[in-house]
Amino acid sequence: MIGDIFRGCPTLINAAGPLTRLSGAPLAPGVLEAIRDADSVSVDMFELQAHASRAIAQATGAEAGVVTTGAAAGLLLATAACIARLDTGRMNALPNTDGPNEVIVARGQRNGYDHGCRAAGARFIEIGMSEGLAGAGIRDVEPWEYESAIGPRTTAILYVQSSRSHPPLAEVSAVARAHDIPLIVDAAAELPPGGNLKRFVAEGADLVAYSGGKVLGGPAGTGILCGRRDLIVSAAMQFLDMDIARNTWLPPADFIDSAQLRGLPRQGIGRGCKPGKNEIFGLLAALDHFVAEGDAARHARWRDTCRQISDSIRPCSSPEPMIEGLGTTDRVPLLTFRYPDSTTANEMRASLIAGQDSVHTRLDPFRPECLIFNPICLRPAEIPRLIAKLSACMPSPGDRTGS
Ligand SMILES: *Cc1c(COP(=O)(O)O)cnc(C)c1O
Repeated sequence: MIGDIFRGCPTLINAAGPLTRLSGAPLAPGVLEAIRDADSVSVDMFELQAHASRAIAQATGAEAGVVTTGAAAGLLLATAACIARLDTGRMNALPNTDGPNEVIVARGQRNGYDHGCRAAGARFIEIGMSEGLAGAGIRDVEPWEYESAIGPRTTAILYVQSSRSHPPLAEVSAVARAHDIPLIVDAAAELPPGGNLKRFVAEGADLVAYSGGKVLGGPAGTGILCGRRDLIVSAAMQFLDMDIARNTWLPPADFIDSAQLRGLPRQGIGRGCKPGKNEIFGLLAALDHFVAEGDAARHARWRDTCRQISDSIRPCSSPEPMIEGLGTTDRVPLLTFRYPDSTTANEMRASLIAGQDSVHTRLDPFRPECLIFNPICLRPAEIPRLIAKLSACMPSPGDRTGS
């Protein structure tokens, strides 16, 4: 089934969701064809990114957008854009900065992916405390704390969007607006719902980074950065190929107004964030499919996968399988087994990974006693193998009555 080049490379069954370390999600229908089509033409990459920008603007409501190599790349480019703006001298100097380079971020939103912001030259100014999570208080970061951290060296506010983010984005964007500070939103994993493509721009974000390789179903090494045109222009100048003479550089005027620039920067700090044309075509096909399929059809497809596994495993399973997230506003249905303690669940996770047909499940740090199957990356042909492996790992009825 898989070609010679893969022979000998172990594969796995991914019931953990679209994680990069497990090679991301299956490509959406139409993506492979788009990748192949891209190979039959040559294009100017400014023209192609301008074309992508129009499609991204339509899907997100943003003024402009670019295809990057992932949300982390988007964070690096967004930060570089906020620091350098349209100053080509500052672009050339990054990550060294002499102007404003402070990025304000809530302590409770710090995470490993913000390394991209720091790589672009930002210095984080952390605010607030997640006292509820610490179990030593009730408050989280508050809007006034963003306001009081703003100073002459502030270059941007970083906001990491999730269901737990606090305060709501609109309250932070009101502060950012009032002080004319760009607001960068990490929305890498915030699709679905499809409405989130437009939501963060509508709520006042100046730049939003999405992953292309999670639920969008684009190549795992892609992402979208969308937002304000002047900032997207700066980002574009810092990751597209600038090895070009100014008199032959003719970017589409609706994408980059070259008259605004006093010169061309050299290869930028974001050079490593460049996707190829095949990935860009693939991402655009995935975006089309994501919008066309819609939340209800996508949710039904995932729910059917959960039901198929649950129905087969129920007769031999203790604890009982449960499908959660079946409500119309729930993002992703999950098949869950709740064990009496996290040790038993950890043993199950480990035995599912071990040996043939290695099955990887999702670990939720807030409920480690649960064994959780995420349906997003499961291909139909993998489901019978997953069911067989899961039944083999379940303690047999004899074991249970004997204990
Ligand atoms: C996955 C993720 C990223 C990184 O996205 P890539 O597209 O893999 O670069 C960044 N931030 C958050 C919150 C994520 O979940």
